[in-house]
Amino acid sequence: MSYQKETICVQGGWQPGNGEPRVLPIYQSTTFKYSTSEEMGKLFDLEKDGYFYSRLQNPTNDVVAQKICDLEGGVAAMLTSSGQAATMFAVTNICEAGDHIVCAAKVYGGTSNLLAVTLKRFGIEVTLVDQDDPKEELAKGFRPNTKAVFAETVSNPAGVILDIEKFAALAHEHRVPLICDNTFATPIHCRPFEFGADIVTHSTTKYMDGHAMALGGCIVDSGNFDWDGNKDKYPGLTTPDESYHGVVYTERFGKKAYITKATVQLMRDMGACQSPQNAFLTNIGLETLHLRMPRHYENALKVAQFLENHEKVAWVEFSGLKSSKYYELAQKYMPNGTCGVLSFGPKGGKEGAMRFTNALKMIAIVTHVADARSCVLHPASHTHRQLNEEQLLEAGVLPDLIRLSVGIENVDDIIADLDQALQAV
Ligand SMILES: *Cc1c(COP(=O)(O)O)cnc(C)c1O
Repeated sequence: MSYQKETICVQGGWQPGNGEPRVLPIYQSTTFKYSTSEEMGKLFDLEKDGYFYSRLQNPTNDVVAQKICDLEGGVAAMLTSSGQAATMFAVTNICEAGDHIVCAAKVYGGTSNLLAVTLKRFGIEVTLVDQDDPKEELAKGFRPNTKAVFAETVSNPAGVILDIEKFAALAHEHRVPLICDNTFATPIHCRPFEFGADIVTHSTTKYMDGHAMALGGCIVDSGNFDWDGNKDKYPGLTTPDESYHGVVYTERFGKKAYITKATVQLMRDMGACQSPQNAFLTNIGLETLHLRMPRHYENALKVAQFLENHEKVAWVEFSGLKSSKYYELAQKYMPNGTCGVLSFGPKGGKEGAMRFTNALKMIAIVTHVADARSCVLHPASHTHRQLNEEQLLEAGVLPDLIRLSVGIENVDDIIADLDQALQAV
């Protein structure tokens, strides 16, 4: 039976049998027991499905991955230790030295560092493109060795809404998959597979956990990309893996090839696995995701409207505002709302921004977004401080930009705190 997303949030994944715990248990075990050597041997040859070591798979983690998979409408999913690890694995599962990816310029700072600095050292090159450019212009970013397109459905921190259909068409015309980081919208407000994305990644650290308790990441595969039809580009999935006696992932695992390879090869070798304790905490967060997301959005919209009319505020960017250039795209792809994160610039530039954040009382300065508590960050002096002026602008980060993550407190209290702090500007 298939359920609506609210039901999947509460009950998805864990299906206890008779006499089993009602609540998802934490399988706090690194290892799993077998009665014969032969049985365990089959697991190592991928001839049988089963648990043997928690670096590769753990039952608690798999239940949570299944819940996120069902929320996104995918065919297979895996958890990772963090959102960064999810991005790393999603890309390197299909790219190697000598390959190239196209990435939206306005993405999370950690993602641009990973792709443009660290993966470059691994021999993978990236071309950053402006996600608002027309298709013909974007097409110029592709090369014969391009293996994937990467973009965020709602970008962090700039709040750019991705034209998912435009990006999916572009990727598919170049015979590569579109990987979407759907952290900010969550599947409650956007399901990228419905618009042609092939793979979705998450930092579950944000709204999915929602309480700022557990780092985590997730990769979900739609099962729709035709790896076999593009064999020349994806030998890792379509030719024998000698580390498993010549298994060909697409032949043996069909639509689950991509996630299986990421699990049994990348996770085996690189080990960025999530602890079952964190998966358990993330699952508690997921149980209320469908209640929290609409409230985050509702509060953020009221705050954005308040800021838009405030004399001490120079500009506000929130795709829920009619004044936003992303209003139409947000209505199309996220008609029920986006998320609780907005950005704005207090008057007085970078100095004004710092005076404002220092004057806040309830809203805290933290390097985090997207949990129940309202918080702010000044990217130019925190997350993006390694970038120069030009790189800041390319990443969509103005010197006065305040990233405000609106929580689920009473919105009048949030507005009162903002109002008194703005008086200090
Ligand atoms: C936070 C974040 C990440 C990285 O996630 P971590 O869990 O902190 O490693 C990736 N993408 C987006 C959009 C994020 O907001």
